[in-house]
Amino acid sequence: MTARILVVDDVPANVKLLEARLVAEYFDVLTAGDGHAALATCEKTPVDLVLLDIMMPGMDGFEVCERLKANSRTAHIPVVMITALDQPSDRVRGLKAGADDFLTKPVNDLQLMSRVKSLVRLKNVSDELRLRAQTAQTIGLQELARVDRPDEPGSVLLVDGRASSQERLTRALKPIADVAVISDPQAALFEAAESSFDLIIVNANFDDYDPLRLCSQLRSLERTRFIPILLVTEQGNDERIVRALELGVTDYIMRPVDPNELVARSLTQIRRKHCNDRLRASVQQTIELAVTDDLTGLHNRRYLENHLKLLIDRATTRGRPLSICITDIDRFKRVNDTYGHDAGDDVLREFANRVRATVRGADLACRFGGEEFVVVMPDTTPEMAAIVAERLRLAVESRGFDIPQAATVLNVTASLGIATLRPDGDTAEALLKRADMALYQAKNGGRNRVVAAAA
Ligand code: GH3
Ligand code: MG
Ligand code: MG
Repeated sequence: MTARILVVDDVPANVKLLEARLVAEYFDVLTAGDGHAALATCEKTPVDLVLLDIMMPGMDGFEVCERLKANSRTAHIPVVMITALDQPSDRVRGLKAGADDFLTKPVNDLQLMSRVKSLVRLKNVSDELRLRAQTAQTIGLQELARVDRPDEPGSVLLVDGRASSQERLTRALKPIADVAVISDPQAALFEAAESSFDLIIVNANFDDYDPLRLCSQLRSLERTRFIPILLVTEQGNDERIVRALELGVTDYIMRPVDPNELVARSLTQIRRKHCNDRLRASVQQTIELAVTDDLTGLHNRRYLENHLKLLIDRATTRGRPLSICITDIDRFKRVNDTYGHDAGDDVLREFANRVRATVRGADLACRFGGEEFVVVMPDTTPEMAAIVAERLRLAVESRGFDIPQAATVLNVTASLGIATLRPDGDTAEALLKRADMALYQAKNGGRNRVVAAAA
């Protein structure tokens, strides 16, 4: 893992020390001797992480952090505050200023490396999501998911073996989250997979159960992989913590738990989760828009061409039949010429609705272009395909198409060509071609009919 880390401290010896350790781990290190220099560096160079001293003359670390987080160009850079000694109040102030983490001087080597690595890993994920969402915005598909929304309450699962700490932690979290509490770690795994939590807090206080087992299971399940985990653990157990972070635990907090610190750390994780969820949803939406036809909401040709290959592969390897149907509206140009292009669009939308209503859920319906539609039918023999196509033909012919803007009802018909996958070496192109030839015959034969390609 490589990353560019900015070390900010007014004492040159401290800078040198951290720099040497990070360089030894092959990180790319930049340094700054005061807050202004730090802000300037973050503005003009891409930085993956800031290690920030608090006590500095002029602008202190809290202010540097606040300014970084208030600037949309630098807000996503993780900040680790370096606090002097054990100052819980500094920690809380730092986290409130938007810091993602903190380390206590003198900085313990294991903690430094594990925290830096885990934050860099998290940043890589959100950078990727941010980039994709930005690309979507550039090509005008949608708005970039906003990162600066007010906090929505989080939903937290607390896994804790003891009633007394359950009660204390729940009370502390109450102002920022809905908390569900579970004592049994295995039951917790099921609960986490069934519901959608923003954060799982695991209190490592079980008598006869290794809490890291639960953490590792949470990381391996598809449904819980992205939920941050906050581990509550004993002081002076560095190796366990390193192990936990390697397993994918997102953060940890030492006992006795300072309620303010718990709230601040939980908030950081919940915010990050909400932000990543939004970005992920926007990526999903982008993908959907890219494969969907605007006018009808059916899949578009690009999607069909990609997906048909997969469906053909699957049918071939499983020895299952697969049929396709191409349908083209008859004399559609006349609709446009007589009633206008908008009326034509209404017909296309209603046509798509009838296609949708006629085919099974497992079938793939697409607008192939213009007034041509394709339905891919997995597990469908030529005989079944002929029945479906005839049902579709009737669904179009039997009821008029309402055109509100022309105050009229139009009679519409369509011609259909069907073809079935050949058992060996058939391709998507060849299959589409055969269906298209059959469609051509249907047109030539007088329209409003179904023709099947020769097997
Ligand atoms: P045929 O029975 O031989 O299929 O005759 P046709 O008139 O349906 O076929 P042709 O291919 O000559 O015309 C298709 C028309 O579909 C021409 C084009 O303007 C129209 N068209 C294509 N896309 C759209 C669209 O998105 N909206 C509208 N309103 N019309 C479209
Ligand atoms: Mg046509
Ligand atoms: Mg046509």
